[in-house]
Amino acid sequence: MPISIRSLLQGMHRQACLLCLQDSHTLLCQHCQADLPILNLAQYQHNLLNRPDIAQGLENINYQRLVACAPYQWPWDRLITSLKFSQRLLCAKALAEQFYRLTLFARQDLPEAILPMPLHASRYMRRRYNQAGEIAGQLSRLSHIPVDQHLCRRSKATLPQTELTGAQRRHNLRDAFSLNGPLPYRHIAVLDDVITTGTTISSLCHTLRCARVDLHIEVWCIAISLKSPLE
Ligand SMILES: [Zn+2]
Repeated sequence: MPISIRSLLQGMHRQACLLCLQDSHTLLCQHCQADLPILNLAQYQHNLLNRPDIAQGLENINYQRLVACAPYQWPWDRLITSLKFSQRLLCAKALAEQFYRLTLFARQDLPEAILPMPLHASRYMRRRYNQAGEIAGQLSRLSHIPVDQHLCRRSKATLPQTELTGAQRRHNLRDAFSLNGPLPYRHIAVLDDVITTGTTISSLCHTLRCARVDLHIEVWCIAISLKSPLE
């Protein structure tokens, strides 16, 4: 019997897998974890900028490393949209656990802080939480890397990027971010749920780099959604 994922997620409890609802002591059961589509990071030195089809799909790369779990597809899209639009905060924990397991677990050279992509205050007031901040908080718990929620703010309410042309996207994001004070880091990770064109990330990285030219910036995202679908 087909059951919508929404009803599955609404009916879940802590002992059920978020995706298949089978009994599980983890948020995603072992079967669902094994079935997750993932990107092979080891093949690209744990940096997806080394993968040509991904690097070519991104605008203005002004960061040194890109890390993501997967292409933006089932079931990542369901977990992310459930977090973003249905306030399923448990999905942030599941996504952080998978990000940690797939991308950070074996790494040594970790950044000093995680900066979640800031939401503009007006959007924060409507949604009451920042989905990137929720994922960052859970990731900090696992990795012991502190989250810096106050380093940077979104100073301009921007239009949704998906409906704009490339030039409009760049204009839309000009001066979109501001620092709240000095930048005390040499190595930082910027975290967002999904990266599409990379214009928003690039704008944030530009603001950070203006404060410190030699800043080492990693971009962490759960999933990548490019115009030409990833294999
Ligand atoms: Zn499952």
